[in-house]
Amino acid sequence: MKYCRYCGNEISDADAFCQFCGKSAAPGYTLTVEKPKEFGIKKAVFNIVVDNRETYAIKGGQKLELVLPAGFHTLFVSWNFRLSSDKKTINFILQRNAKFVISLNRVSGGFDVFETQA
Ligand SMILES: [Zn+2]
Repeated sequence: MKYCRYCGNEISDADAFCQFCGKSAAPGYTLTVEKPKEFGIKKAVFNIVVDNRETYAIKGGQKLELVLPAGFHTLFVSWNFRLSSDKKTINFILQRNAKFVISLNRVSGGFDVFETQA
């Protein structure tokens, strides 16, 4: 017996989709996107779009945590800060908890996104 992570209703272990809300009943994992504090850009806001849906915004010292179904996902990170703008698209397969860290690239003036141990 398990519960739908979207609507909370009880669903059968055998169901691939929730019979109440229709969403995937596949195992879910936590996606973390973190922006550590870095010198000099405290006000920079990073916009994060997961699977071309909602946009989230984080600043230095903040992180985003989402539970997503196992499988293929797209992470799009962008910023527009003073005279800098940069964007990165990362395609990944979620098969365990995953963590991405946004880090300034002082050579390019943009940023990089690294996957690290969750
Ligand atoms: Zn549901």
